Amino acid sequence: MQIPFFNLKKINQNLNSELQEAFLKFLDSGQYILGSEVADFETHFANYCESNYCVGLANGLDALILGLQSLDLPANSEVLVPANTYYASILSILKAGYKPVLVEPNIETFNIDSSKIESHITNNTSAILAVNLYGKMCDFEALNRICKEHDLKLIVDAAQSHGGIYDDSKKCKGADVTAYSFYPSKNLGALSDGGAIVTDNEQIYKKIKSLRNYGSSIKYQFEYQGINSRLSEIQASFLNIKLKYLNEELLRRRQIARIYLTEIKNNLITLPSKTSIDTDAWHLFVIRTSYRERFMNHLIEKKVGFEIHYPTPPHKQKALEDFNYLSLPITEKIHDEVLSIPLNSTLTNSEIAYIIDTINSFRI
Ligand SMILES: *Cc1c(COP(=O)(O)O)cnc(C)c1O
Repeated sequence: MQIPFFNLKKINQNLNSELQEAFLKFLDSGQYILGSEVADFETHFANYCESNYCVGLANGLDALILGLQSLDLPANSEVLVPANTYYASILSILKAGYKPVLVEPNIETFNIDSSKIESHITNNTSAILAVNLYGKMCDFEALNRICKEHDLKLIVDAAQSHGGIYDDSKKCKGADVTAYSFYPSKNLGALSDGGAIVTDNEQIYKKIKSLRNYGSSIKYQFEYQGINSRLSEIQASFLNIKLKYLNEELLRRRQIARIYLTEIKNNLITLPSKTSIDTDAWHLFVIRTSYRERFMNHLIEKKVGFEIHYPTPPHKQKALEDFNYLSLPITEKIHDEVLSIPLNSTLTNSEIAYIIDTINSFRI
């Protein structure tokens, strides 16, 4: 048996006729930028996220940058961010003109360790950029308390957590603004780039809506130095279709995660936390092993696809030279040990059983 890590073609082919119909409708509409599909998607996705407003954007990185810019933080502000995240979270802070301050994650949840945040707060700290990494929701109760105590804004990178649940809600509790990506392989993926922010704050909504369109809300009048980051009309129409199936996708992912968590039994492998099975968005199923090299060879031999999210931590990247001196042992350990196994709705029961057998038979 050969199992790819992720079969994007199969995911989209399941919706073949609906997607083709959507394209023909788009072609026929003559409305190619910011038409009714973008407006409809913004309404649907705001509702889905149990939030008041949504603005469709060109990608997830822009969603983070514009989200930060909408908060009107003082110049030279420091923004606390988990050290263990995808590079984009940290890059967005630099691109918005602020200073990222890296905080170690909790090794069980992989997310920012709220008990380590306060020691990093200075007079220049203005915000926390929390990341729901791998689909696991952050500890918003703790984050909300810290933000309130120190008068900080909260922005959430939810690029990996569409549909994740906290406090019985799909809203990231207490966030001023939440950023999403619709990169094709995300839980809700377009057929090209796409992104969005959701917020309950009308001012933030209006500012980002203007910023994505050159900083203009009235034609040919510019109130900000914005950018061009409009969500594509055809991608919005694909997303309107795919959003209808997101809950189904998440249910199946949660079901598979539950099977993995009960049936994978190997002392060489540390499984992700069991405490959030039904609230996790399960973008990725991330295991840890101190024998990763040998485990990778075993998976290759058995033809089970995998990925490493991520092989090099942001503070060790060439592009972030100013951070290279930092020693972040938990982040570094995570990057040395993690490996993602296949997890998505296209997996068949026999493929799932084969993946479990393969992992259980790993020896050193
Ligand atoms: C994918 C991703 C992004 C960036 O999204 P793009 O749409 O590729 O710009 C940001 N943060 C995280 C955690 C991501 O996984």
